[in-house]
Amino acid sequence: MSSDQSQSFQGHPMLDYSKSKIRKQVKKELQTVQNSLPFRIQPQLGCEEGDSSLKSVRVYSPNDLSICVSETCYVPASSVDDIVSQSQLAQKKWKVQPVAERVQKIKKLAQILSQKRTELMALIALEVGKPLDEADADVCEAIDFCNYYAESASALFTPQDLSVLGEQNHMQPQALGVVVVIAPWNFPLAILCGMTVAPLLCGNSVIVKPAEQSMAVASKFFDCLIDAGVPVPVAQFVPGLGEDVGQALVKHAQIQGIVFTGSKAVGLQILQQANTLQPGQVHLKRCVVEMGGKNALIVDEDADLDQAITAALASAFGFTGQKCSALSRLLVHEKIFDEFQNRLKESFEALSVGSVLEMAYDIGPVIDLESKQRLESVIQSHKEQILAQIDLPDSSHGHYIQPTLFIEDNPKSDLMHKEFFGPLLTLFKIKSFDEGIQIMNSVEYALTGGVFSRNPQHIVKAQSECEVGNLYINRNITGALVGRQPFGGFKLSGMSGKAGGPNYLGHFVNWKTISENTVRRGFSPEVSV
Ligand code: NAD
Repeated sequence: MSSDQSQSFQGHPMLDYSKSKIRKQVKKELQTVQNSLPFRIQPQLGCEEGDSSLKSVRVYSPNDLSICVSETCYVPASSVDDIVSQSQLAQKKWKVQPVAERVQKIKKLAQILSQKRTELMALIALEVGKPLDEADADVCEAIDFCNYYAESASALFTPQDLSVLGEQNHMQPQALGVVVVIAPWNFPLAILCGMTVAPLLCGNSVIVKPAEQSMAVASKFFDCLIDAGVPVPVAQFVPGLGEDVGQALVKHAQIQGIVFTGSKAVGLQILQQANTLQPGQVHLKRCVVEMGGKNALIVDEDADLDQAITAALASAFGFTGQKCSALSRLLVHEKIFDEFQNRLKESFEALSVGSVLEMAYDIGPVIDLESKQRLESVIQSHKEQILAQIDLPDSSHGHYIQPTLFIEDNPKSDLMHKEFFGPLLTLFKIKSFDEGIQIMNSVEYALTGGVFSRNPQHIVKAQSECEVGNLYINRNITGALVGRQPFGGFKLSGMSGKAGGPNYLGHFVNWKTISENTVRRGFSPEVSV
């Protein structure tokens, strides 16, 4: 997609929750979807599932553990050879389809997702505990990825003529082959959708391995993909364990590409395994790996505190702090620190925790028991640094933890370096704006970050010196929009893939340059009689 197209791209509008009609409609849909649970989810493969005793796994709603959301049959690692063979065969036909046909199917997918919008939102809220307005944003982002990448594909596959007199030169993109998609649960629709449609549009076949926690949303998405005209096995749906079938796919010799979003630990392991040549492998695997963050916001001495506090709370506690872009270190100038701390604490304590299904609370549950226990142990081991906590509802039947505000003076502490991925925020006093930048940059990640300042020189300095993939100035640091804020980080946050940006599709093609000497054109070879 050209920068002109990027400027003109219009995202799908979100629902207006101030209208009681919309709230009623969404509430009704929640009930309908809840009544239809649990979903029985099967793999969708071009071959037999292999092992007849497929493991079946249940997922319960983090809002309320009495709600069983899905029961999924897992594909074992032993099926991977057959799955990959099917993908290879299917890709040969898919790649020779005119790009316009692939574009038309993905635009159709955008329409289908839009028609099923409230159903998908409801399922996202039920399955991963995402508040409904943010679940709506998840659906809108998926639609935007389809439309934006579809436009990008048309531009990418337009021949680039580099000819000079007497020599025809052009570059043409070619699909990589079979691409494995390994997705996280926290944007169960948008990230999965973006990572799937981008390689498909470029003529690759895809093997989709969703996160264990969000199989229901993933399987609904996959059904929409098939309804839009992308056949199995051009796309195959492979529910299963990351360390089992996921790992087997990553290591397979005939996989040409891996697109992964998730934790640093898994991302680094995938990179290592993908870069180890397997017997019979005669290519390098293209890896697009996006990982975690430890995101900071600097609040300068002259910042607008009303704006800064609202933005800090939204960035840290939106979707229970379970966004890779979420704020986790709040670096506040010493001249305003005391006032900021008091006002932040008061606003924080006004927040409430409870089931997102009730549409009445600010903060929902965390994703699962493992996450709850990990976060509780962080809180336990940093008891001395707690500044404020929010009480839990009396009867909590889900995975709820107390959102916690810490205050820290040791820049080397875990609170300042480790990604926790939950509703924990650390406040830290800085002596100067420069020290803020130095502390922001002192972590191994470089994903999102922000600055609240009214000093033009500081804003210019932040733009050149803050080591982050997405820098936000005088606003919250989450909620990147497709086509407007291409997303992705560097250092150990990722490979600067920039999802939703003009160069994203380029990850899924190889380029061939063709040069033909045309000076002799017109001469017929002499035929000897
Ligand atoms: P995760 O790494 O635990 O899992 C992600 C995916 O990897 C899942 O599908 C899982 O099954 C699979 N997996 C696990 N082990 C594997 C293995 N050995 N081989 C192959 N696949 C394997 O991450 P998560 O808990 O789903 O997501 C949370 C993390 O994702 C956080 O660190 C967050 O910051 C990050 N994230 C980053 C971005 C970004 O754009 N940078 C976006 C969203 C989430």
